[in-house]
Amino acid sequence: MSQLDAPIQDINFYCKKISKKLLKLGLKTARDLLFYYPFRYEDLSALKKIADLTPGETATIKVRVELIKNYRSPQKHKKITEAIVSDGTGKIKILWFNQWYLAQNIAPGDELYLAGKLSDSGYAREIIAPDYEKFSEDTTHTGRIVPIYPLTQGITQKQLRTAIKMAVKYASELTEYLPDEIISGDNLMGLSEAIANIHFPVSEEMKSRAARRLSFDELFFNQLNNVWLKKRLEKKRAETIPFNQEKIAEFVKGLPFALTNAQRKAAWEILRDIEASRPMNRLLNGDVGSGKTIIAALTMYDAALAGHQSALLAPTEILARQHYDTFCKLFSRFNIKIGLLTRGQKQINHESGITNQGEKKEKSKNLNSQFIINNSDIVIGTHALLQEKIIFNHLALAIIDEQHRFGVEQRTRLSEMASEAGAFPHLLSMTATPIPRTMAIMMYGDLDLSILDEMPGGRKEIKTFVVPQAKRGGAYNFIKKEIDAGRQAFVICPLIDESDKLGVKSVTQEYKKLSEEIFPELSVAALHGKLKPAEKDGVMADFKKNKIKILVSTSVVEVGVDVPNATIMMIEGAERFGLSQLHQFRGRVGRGEHQSYCLLFPTNGDATARLSALEKINDGFKLAEIDLELRGPGQIYGKEQSGKIDFKLADTKDVVLIKRAQDAIKNLFDFDPELKKYPHLLEYLENTLDKIHLE
Ligand code: ADP
Ligand code: MG
Repeated sequence: MSQLDAPIQDINFYCKKISKKLLKLGLKTARDLLFYYPFRYEDLSALKKIADLTPGETATIKVRVELIKNYRSPQKHKKITEAIVSDGTGKIKILWFNQWYLAQNIAPGDELYLAGKLSDSGYAREIIAPDYEKFSEDTTHTGRIVPIYPLTQGITQKQLRTAIKMAVKYASELTEYLPDEIISGDNLMGLSEAIANIHFPVSEEMKSRAARRLSFDELFFNQLNNVWLKKRLEKKRAETIPFNQEKIAEFVKGLPFALTNAQRKAAWEILRDIEASRPMNRLLNGDVGSGKTIIAALTMYDAALAGHQSALLAPTEILARQHYDTFCKLFSRFNIKIGLLTRGQKQINHESGITNQGEKKEKSKNLNSQFIINNSDIVIGTHALLQEKIIFNHLALAIIDEQHRFGVEQRTRLSEMASEAGAFPHLLSMTATPIPRTMAIMMYGDLDLSILDEMPGGRKEIKTFVVPQAKRGGAYNFIKKEIDAGRQAFVICPLIDESDKLGVKSVTQEYKKLSEEIFPELSVAALHGKLKPAEKDGVMADFKKNKIKILVSTSVVEVGVDVPNATIMMIEGAERFGLSQLHQFRGRVGRGEHQSYCLLFPTNGDATARLSALEKINDGFKLAEIDLELRGPGQIYGKEQSGKIDFKLADTKDVVLIKRAQDAIKNLFDFDPELKKYPHLLEYLENTLDKIHLE
């Protein structure tokens, strides 16, 4: 075994002593240490003379120790170590606290580097508790560009830095996994040199070059993994689902509207995909309201016509229920069996007369889950579909709506469920979170992409306003007028209950205020995740039927909900949401023939500049780009989603380097599709791809 992979304890006695602490950071081997990068640096390379020190400035000095002694402070009995040091331009006093052992380590006559701040008390020239290091050509903590690492409790910057410095000796043993042609073609620093310089750069320039090389690696492997996953999946077998052009055309003709061109194109791509015997793995990315549901419906219809079963997974009970109702309506003239399976709701559209036990039962009685699976062509459900011990016997197609709400495990589970039955399912993920192109390459490079970039015709643009506190009363009057004209309104609050976060609106609070004070004569209801499924369902159903005029809700209505008569979306504490999310909320209105409005209420004035982007921009993709710029991918897509692009060094906005990595990969595969000519690369790839994620 290479020294690189031997346990940290074996490096030397020092590392052995702190190995438990290093383990807390997940560091077990020299290799781990080498790939644990600093998050910033302090440039202590410029040496200062004592005479030139200015108070408050952090600097490194090179000095000779004249005197060093321990004593206790007279009043508080603190342990103090005091040294007098000089460098030919002056003398200065150094103080350390509670480190009496220093007097043993440092002796008069020693040459030291000291890095610290000259205290600016005015009456004494002294440096308190500087980092110190004995003079050498190759320093670690002083006299150079010093790396600063992310730490955890119990370990100090100095300890970790010392250990990493020791590990850097082994950097030369690292195997270069990138092929020569990429290294030279992209003018990259070699791996060993880059690792050495990311920790202990010999200059600013070398530091940048090291960072560029290692960022390239992150982008390169992120994309290579995607391509590799895609290739692996292509080798799996799926059911072929023939495109029943005639029936599909008939179905489309029966719709109350004509499909948009974007919908036609996406449907075509999908229906062609599932004809193949390799599993489809496609992402349908379309803005809110672009009409993804109908695409799901006709794909599932096509599967049912071929005698295959399909499942549609929704992130919330409300949405699953809505899809179920939509599908039941869409297919009322066809002999398609549709099942609904959530934690609180289990039914089939043709259940009258059929029951688990073969007896006649009431229509809405809850059915057994497996019974639903066994008797449906199309199953619509929530997570419950995955959690229960359910066996599909011929699931050929799985569609995940608002896929970003699902975790990787859940998506993997879905594929397993189907593959237990023999073949892999065709997988269609749908998302209304517009994802800018470069981001999509990194996050979903293993998926084929269909984009709905066209809105169904006849929609009016939603008028959006950021409303200052002073105009709140006017806004309420406006809402009242809209409701009197027959419309409905959503009010979104960031929280369910009142909290100690001062000023943040909660559903319970706003519900009380609106229903008792502002609109006592109107029916107002509250909706949030803590309600029981049946209660949520009741509220949603009443809102759809226009029995409820104002729905005060948390972000549970964020995704998917379709109530065409609602024309007002009012958002409290708007600054607490990202632009993409606000755009999603806004997409809840403007779904019918009436002019719709989105009113944003920031808690304070500061946020208005950011929010006003929504006043001007209606394009979800543009907003996503701004959001990305402002908040970074982790905030927008969540940890789960952005996990794949959780880079240590690489900047997800570095379009140039992303493109370079992409081109490098393309060239590799053009040259050798199996990568057999690159054994080091292949080995590295297989090692890092420990888990195959199916998404
Ligand atoms: P999303 O893409 O946000 O899931 P939906 O599928 O819920 O959007 O569609 C939004 C609304 O638009 C629905 O009421 C749907 O019936 C309607 N719709 C879908 N496609 C069209 C179309 N081509 N023309 C007109 N209305 C459409
Ligand atoms: Mg939808």
